Amino acid sequence: MLLEVDEVRSGYHGLEILHGVSLSVEPGEVVAIVGANGAGKSTTLKTIAGEVKQFAGSVKFDGKPISFGGSHQVARRGLMLVPEGRALFGSLTVEDNLKMGAWGARDRSGFSEQEILELFPILEERRDQLADTMSGGQQQMLAIARALMGAPRLLMLDEPSTGLSPKLTWDVFHAVNAIRERGVGVLIVEQNARQVLDLADRAYVLESGLVALSGDSAELANDPRVQAAYLGG
Ligand code: ATP
Repeated sequence: MLLEVDEVRSGYHGLEILHGVSLSVEPGEVVAIVGANGAGKSTTLKTIAGEVKQFAGSVKFDGKPISFGGSHQVARRGLMLVPEGRALFGSLTVEDNLKMGAWGARDRSGFSEQEILELFPILEERRDQLADTMSGGQQQMLAIARALMGAPRLLMLDEPSTGLSPKLTWDVFHAVNAIRERGVGVLIVEQNARQVLDLADRAYVLESGLVALSGDSAELANDPRVQAAYLGG
């Protein structure tokens, strides 16, 4: 197992948001987390990345624990979080953002810069453009591309389709498929439950800091409870 999250409780300033969440991701598997606003989806990703304090339970990446405050080392071990809001270096060019992404990944082989630019042709065209001046969709692609430069073994994406047109969302999901084919695990949080259940192999439904349902994505998409709550009936 690439990622094993076991009964994790975590939150902010002593306030518990996750009340015992368990999930797992295997290499080459796309796993989705869906749920309403405030259910704790982003908190789950941030806890896994070591950015939010665990009160109890454990997170293991490649069999070794991840603890709070170690997000830098976590990235060096190959676990990359692309946060909502993207966190690019806005005053640097596309090319320089990509170069920054490769930092720390020297001891792992991953996608070459050329392969990444083939996945996101728009970035090739805009190599010399400042990140700040690109559209939201282009910035999202750059954020994912930059994470790929770090040769991730697990890529976590927080709401990658936010603010994107259906066409750009499709491009991002297409890239996720290519990433999966390379054996990278992907854990993806999405508001758009219908599309992400089509993409993912398995999914977890998070409600108020707890896993309410989990399983094969296609089965979940056919579950009347999921349809009523997240797929518009
Ligand atoms: P959304 O789609 O709205 O981002 P989410 O499922 O990702 O929803 P979280 O962002 O994980 O939800 O938030 C879960 C709860 O944690 C919310 O009640 C939120 O107010 C709270 N929360 C999130 N970030 C912080 C923070 N930095 N400090 C305190 N509380 C926070």
